[in-house]
Amino acid sequence: MTGTSSWRNWAGNQRVAGVDVVHPADADEIAAALVRAAEGGRRVRPIGSGHSFTAIGRPDDVQVVLDRHDRLVGIDDSGLVTVQSGMPLHRLNAELAARGWSLTNLGDIDRQTVSGALSTGTHGTGARFGGLATQLRALALVLPDGSLLRCSAEENPEVFAAARIGLGALGVIDTVTLQAEPAFALRAEEGPARLGELLDGFEEFMTSTDHVEFYWFPHTSRCLAKRNTRVPLSEGLTPLPRWRGVWEDEVLSNAVFAGIVAAGRRRPAAIPRLAAFASGGLGPRTWTDASHRVFVSRRRVRFLEMEYAVPRAEAPAILTELHRIAKAGEFRAAFPVEVRVAAADDIPLSTASGRETAYIAAHVPARTDPGAWFAALESMAGDVGGRPHWGKLHGLDAATLRTRYPRFDEFTAVRARLDPAGVLGNAHLDRVLGPVGC
Ligand SMILES: Cc1cc2nc3c(=O)[nH]c(=O)nc-3n(C[C@H](O)[C@H](O)[C@H](O)COP(=O)(O)OP(=O)(O)OC[C@H]3O[C@@H](n4cnc5c(N)ncnc54)[C@H](O)[C@@H]3O)c2cc1C
Repeated sequence: MTGTSSWRNWAGNQRVAGVDVVHPADADEIAAALVRAAEGGRRVRPIGSGHSFTAIGRPDDVQVVLDRHDRLVGIDDSGLVTVQSGMPLHRLNAELAARGWSLTNLGDIDRQTVSGALSTGTHGTGARFGGLATQLRALALVLPDGSLLRCSAEENPEVFAAARIGLGALGVIDTVTLQAEPAFALRAEEGPARLGELLDGFEEFMTSTDHVEFYWFPHTSRCLAKRNTRVPLSEGLTPLPRWRGVWEDEVLSNAVFAGIVAAGRRRPAAIPRLAAFASGGLGPRTWTDASHRVFVSRRRVRFLEMEYAVPRAEAPAILTELHRIAKAGEFRAAFPVEVRVAAADDIPLSTASGRETAYIAAHVPARTDPGAWFAALESMAGDVGGRPHWGKLHGLDAATLRTRYPRFDEFTAVRARLDPAGVLGNAHLDRVLGPVGC
């Protein structure tokens, strides 16, 4: 299936019109699209569900949409699950749950495709746990010359190392194989907390159980803390009553929050009072449910996001300074700041590569200028070697990113080998990776 179309991402800040769009149904059709583009000197971007805020998936010429390439290939007895690249995470979670398996860790939402999420280093929280790419065991990539390359720790290991977080710059992913684990439940404990206390005991709090995070409401000292503890399914589930889930997660977290954001847009001066109101809305609650239902939430209010990964010990000082900036009224931020952690991993372009990591994510409503708020985070994170999420807004280029990733050149060497003509590129990749071969 081919055609010409326009495209926009989830947040609406990346758009393009009049690009050629291909919907391949198998590896041969992906290969044909790549070879055709290469012969015509055109550039290709594969796309998932368009949830990246950066222009990483914005096509210059040809867009390859994997929505017809989204089936389960198989699950073996050890929990190795293989899926086609366009499968959304929520469907993968359902397929796994139906067979008694779970992914080890997930981010906040499950609307991304598995390949899109892997390609930008999507992560959740957990001091002992890595992002989604640490669960990856094998990939099949369609290369720009149309050949199919399988890679894993045993087969083409140097390609596998780079392609675990490949930015869609090494090939179009045909299938991915992830290691699932026996299904488990999470006991969720959520409740209000004070920023000062969380920062004073930051390491202790963030490592106090399996998956810990908090949201801080700028202009206040108030936070919403979330602690999720892994428990066996055999202990039984005590999910939130349906009315409470709808009221708190749909009405308060989405509908009321949308109203607060809209009011802040009309009257920016009211944002600090609105933030205090928003932070007071969510009280303590505890429940136990299947892991994928606890990890993810619905995000209906559209926003723009910047997220920096910093050495874990540096996070409290950055948050303290952001608190000062918000208090001084230098910027009015209606959205909470999200704070998470991850274990060090060994993936060249992972934001947690080689170091214990804390993530600090700032948000502003869609169609708002993030101006000084994002600039302050970017500057402070930069002072401590911060690495931006590949799918979230940042202003860095290849020269700076090379200094933040000790294995940057290892990645670009694999890219130059697999895609010497730069078929899998766009203006954004030129900026963050440099032209092919540099
Ligand atoms: C509401 C919201 C919540 C989010 N929460 C989190 C979170 O909790 N944690 C986190 O880390 N991130 C989070 N993100 C960011 C998001 O996970 C990433 O941007 C992710 O890449 C989006 O997946 P996607 O399928 O939409 O990919 P897209 O944005 O469509 O594409 C991302 C990249 O993947 C490439 N790609 C897609 N398919 C293929 C393929 N078959 N082969 C090769 N390359 C491919 C694209 O070319 C592009 O470079 C969130 C984003 C939003 C909007």
